[in-house]
Amino acid sequence: MKDNRGVVMNTIKNIFCIGRNYVEHVHELGNVVPEEPVVFTKPSHSLFMADGQRLTLPSDEGDVHYEAELVLKLGRDYEAGISVDDIVSEMTVGLDLTLRDVQSRLKEKGQPWLLAKGFTNAAVLGKFVPFTSEKDCEKKNFTLHINDELVQEGDIKKMIFPLARQIEFLGEKLGLKKGDIIFTGTPEGVGPLREKDSLLLSWGDEALGKTQVSFK
Ligand code: ZN
Repeated sequence: MKDNRGVVMNTIKNIFCIGRNYVEHVHELGNVVPEEPVVFTKPSHSLFMADGQRLTLPSDEGDVHYEAELVLKLGRDYEAGISVDDIVSEMTVGLDLTLRDVQSRLKEKGQPWLLAKGFTNAAVLGKFVPFTSEKDCEKKNFTLHINDELVQEGDIKKMIFPLARQIEFLGEKLGLKKGDIIFTGTPEGVGPLREKDSLLLSWGDEALGKTQVSFK
């Protein structure tokens, strides 16, 4: 397991994230539905593989919210007009962990979200599986269970900006290359993590990631 963890982490380049991409999640945080994708990044140091190891989180910075998201991995460099099916090679379910209190303060001050989104272990990933096609992806939902209770369920057909739009937007504005990953936004149901919470990330019936929370 450990060897595989290193191999996967070393193949990942940039971590791009899309915010406010499901209407009901936008509303639950009192935000406005955006007219173009809201994008941010996380440092590669924030990567964490949910392969059974313990998820250590900061205890002195307020609430740490889970945001379950479909995560895409690119197998090719972006070029204008490339299709989702051609550029995406793998996918998984991940957590865009967020220091919500820190983020609220940053938003008030009009400052970037990096401190709220880029801390150690803030980019949680399940095991990558082959991406067959966008159409196939639409047939299943991704879920997060906490202590065996379903807390989030995402259906990519409900995205405000579908996968093709995200890829085109990121590719044109920032460039996308093989090895980049994209957190594609979270549905409603976000909330704070608690000590010893047991997290299960699934794609349909398939468990892709497992971890237990421990505040340091
Ligand atoms: Zn997110």
